[in-house]
Amino acid sequence: MLFSKDVRGENLVVRGARVLDPGQSIDARMDVRVDDGLIAALGTDLDTNAHKVIDAQGLVLAPAFVDPHVHLRTPGREDEETIASGTEAAATGGYCTILAMPNTDPVVDSAATLGSLIETARAEAEIPVGFLAAITKAQAGAELTEMGELADAGAIGFTDDGVPVTSPGLMRRALQYGAAIGRRLALHCEEPTLSRSGQMHEGAVSAELGFAGYPSVAESVMVERDLALAAYERQPLHLLHLSAWESVQALRRAQRAGVAATGEVTPHHLCLTEEAVRTLDPNRKMNPPLRSDSDRTALIDALKDGTVSCIATDHAPHARHEKDVPFEAAPFGVTGLETAFAALYTHLVEPGLVPLETILERMSPGPARAYGLDEPRIAVGRRANLVLLDLNAAYRITEDVFRSRSVNSWLLGETVKGRVRATVADGRLVYAA
Ligand SMILES: [Zn+2]
Ligand SMILES: [Zn+2]
Repeated sequence: MLFSKDVRGENLVVRGARVLDPGQSIDARMDVRVDDGLIAALGTDLDTNAHKVIDAQGLVLAPAFVDPHVHLRTPGREDEETIASGTEAAATGGYCTILAMPNTDPVVDSAATLGSLIETARAEAEIPVGFLAAITKAQAGAELTEMGELADAGAIGFTDDGVPVTSPGLMRRALQYGAAIGRRLALHCEEPTLSRSGQMHEGAVSAELGFAGYPSVAESVMVERDLALAAYERQPLHLLHLSAWESVQALRRAQRAGVAATGEVTPHHLCLTEEAVRTLDPNRKMNPPLRSDSDRTALIDALKDGTVSCIATDHAPHARHEKDVPFEAAPFGVTGLETAFAALYTHLVEPGLVPLETILERMSPGPARAYGLDEPRIAVGRRANLVLLDLNAAYRITEDVFRSRSVNSWLLGETVKGRVRATVADGRLVYAA
């Protein structure tokens, strides 16, 4: 269900890194040897066997990241992103796997469209990529797609991301089909009659700036509905980009009641609040919007206690001319693949809000588990999926940091700490700096 270029595995020794794999309680200075793409040995002073050697003194080696929510804009807007550029951006950000959303043009709602994406990924994806297919035809919310056929064709899950499934009856049937074919539904929770024409979070700042508000309840009312349906059908589901305090409260309650629901949160919702919108920078306009300080605190708490098990970038590239307009005219969405770790390290780990181990856990095994993928692990016999991190590197985010075809990042101009030095994905060295 993951697709990439077919390339031979690497022969590699990473020398002297602090190996940090929180899921296995590993935190030690070691060498890691990779033979033909498989982790062959962990230890000190390992024989290099004439392999390529990466000197990693002073660096951290962790399981590479998994991003469960990326917009690759292909087919239809290859000027904004392609499978090649998006997976290269992901490799630059330390990712070994990404999952792509189906709200493209055309929408990924047929086995033919999915099949051609898979073919392209086999030709040009730098790292393994999985594709979600649409829940409803053309994401119009009226008629379910042929979910069984799409699953057979390689869909890893189903979503109408970008828009909600407004009909509860259709949502219920989608859950039933999803269960029958063993694929998870991922839901963009938004009640459109409440969010309609909202430009930013409804609150004091929107009132001050005179923007139409998009209230938290527009999200949480749909989260509550979808969790109620999942509980009733006894089926799992995944909640995309949670932004509101009420939403994570609802998810926590549902999980305690035994609902197999998982949730994700983005770096921008973890790092910023509605206050950031005061700059009127269109790169701070996203859906759901940046919310209040108490919402941000609730997201951080949910990340720490495991209610939210995944960090997802919701990488949403937009052409320069589309974002280079006044805030109210700009489309929603920001990019995030290259900068996610640095943003989280700078805004959460350095100030002592979240331990590094929690960030690593929620960026890698957490999202893998949510979609039933193999968790990246630093263990002998496992495929090498590794990220090498320099926690002391401070640098300014400029346009040349990006490998994406788009540069609509909220971090442009900011000085951050934490740099990806190398990425090994599916046994292959896909990035080194
Ligand atoms: Zn969405
Ligand atoms: Zn999205």
